[in-house]
Amino acid sequence: QEDVFKKIVSHCKEYGFVFPSSEIYDGLAAVYDYGSMGVELKNNIKQYWWNAMVRLHDNVVGLDSAIFMHPTIWKASGHVDAFNDPLIDNKDSKKRYRADVLIEEYLAKLDEKIEKEVGKAAKRFGDSFDEKKFRETNPRVLETLSKRNDVHTRYAKALNANDLNDLRQIIIDCEIVCPISGTRNWTEVRQFNLMFKTEMGSTSDGAMQVYLRPETAQGIFVNFLNVQKTTRMKVPFGIAQIGKTFRNEIVARQFIFRMREFEQMEMQFFVRPGEEMKWFEQWKSFRLRWHQLLGFGNENYQFHDHDKLAHYANAATDIEFLMPFGFKEVEGIHSRTDFDLSQHEKFSGKKMQYFDPDLGKSYTPYVIETSAGVDRIFLSIIAGAYTEETLEDGETRVVLKLPAMLAPIKLAVLPLVKKDGLAEKAREIVADLKFSFSCQYDEKDSIGKRYRRQDAIGTPFCVTIDHQTLQDNTVTIRYRDTMEQERVTVDSLNDFISSKTDM
Ligand code: ATP
Repeated sequence: QEDVFKKIVSHCKEYGFVFPSSEIYDGLAAVYDYGSMGVELKNNIKQYWWNAMVRLHDNVVGLDSAIFMHPTIWKASGHVDAFNDPLIDNKDSKKRYRADVLIEEYLAKLDEKIEKEVGKAAKRFGDSFDEKKFRETNPRVLETLSKRNDVHTRYAKALNANDLNDLRQIIIDCEIVCPISGTRNWTEVRQFNLMFKTEMGSTSDGAMQVYLRPETAQGIFVNFLNVQKTTRMKVPFGIAQIGKTFRNEIVARQFIFRMREFEQMEMQFFVRPGEEMKWFEQWKSFRLRWHQLLGFGNENYQFHDHDKLAHYANAATDIEFLMPFGFKEVEGIHSRTDFDLSQHEKFSGKKMQYFDPDLGKSYTPYVIETSAGVDRIFLSIIAGAYTEETLEDGETRVVLKLPAMLAPIKLAVLPLVKKDGLAEKAREIVADLKFSFSCQYDEKDSIGKRYRRQDAIGTPFCVTIDHQTLQDNTVTIRYRDTMEQERVTVDSLNDFISSKTDM
């Protein structure tokens, strides 16, 4: 599986989806650029989200707030004091780790050990294997499981109490070693704030220190009344926005899974206090459906409820996708209570309450948030779509089985040969269709090679222009996934491809 992941990363580079940032200067860790295919796919993902959230919901409206905000906002939101990762250093390798990640990896290893034990027994006993009984009675399994549960309970408690000493003690008690030096020579655990700081303007008293926003949500909270009044929305209603966010991540690896500059698609849904759980459940299932409709298999998505609730939340779950490196979070759904609006009321001195005309009273709304990472969803889509196939003639092809609506190029128009007016005819077709969807003209190399290139970038349809086209205005259309071909009229292309690729 690690192998597949490496192939996906190099495929993304080779075909212009994702490049490491500043590559000619040897790159900048955890920062990436999107190439010509990548930007199309990314835009389509954002459009799919925007349509589903804003266009299809009468009670959700959009916003585009600035990245820079008044620094007190981050005091009010708790990010200055509580947006921290617990870090620990190994004194021998001088490497820095997230203490929570070290413990989680250790727990995952114990789980793996149990599964190995079960797998071995299943092989040994064959058909007569009673898995449930084995799990309940095998001493080795029971011992590992009880250890796992003990560590897990202690870990959850330490996280919730923010007990840094105990996090360190767990690492020592579990004899967790540094992956680089192999030793257990650990420092204290300390907090590290994830926000990037910079300076704005310059006055005689010095510049103002500001932050690059670590989430888009706060821009929505501070504009809550502006949006509510100008749109005349009534609670319950939501505000959605897409935008860049920045986090100084420590464990920055796994390609675009964990970046220092990334994009979020967030929606804050404002509800009456006491009704938040109903909406939490509703948005959970809506958001899961949104992912599943991409068609990569419902079994590859799961919910993961949080052990540790953030300082603002009374319920939280992640939607996880089965990446080549395991089930990983792509979206968070949080019940944020009235924490943010109340804090902004306190820190700004301005009323953040809403007058509910149906109840005849004012209150601070509760909030359900859906927070999705564009880049992680991009990765989940590439991982789900990446397919290597061996064909009947023994040749192999790499094909990105992207949902047609998300494909960077919807239609490739390929003249069989350049001469005899075929190239001109092909260009004419592109000139006509490019107002409806993205088309690509390609005349370079053999037709087989051109098909492969389109397969590799996920183009769902190719049409070939041949001599017959000049006579009867028909073309051969080839379908990416089945590779089947059929003859259709040029006049039918617009409607047919629009109907297959519309969001
Ligand atoms: P993690 O636990 O993986 O650090 P998180 O729980 O801090 O993520 P949230 O604050 O809930 O993440 O952010 C919502 C979404 O934003 C995540 O589900 C993810 O898709 C995306 N996201 C968060 N951090 C990053 C990152 N460093 N790089 C890319 N996407 C990210």
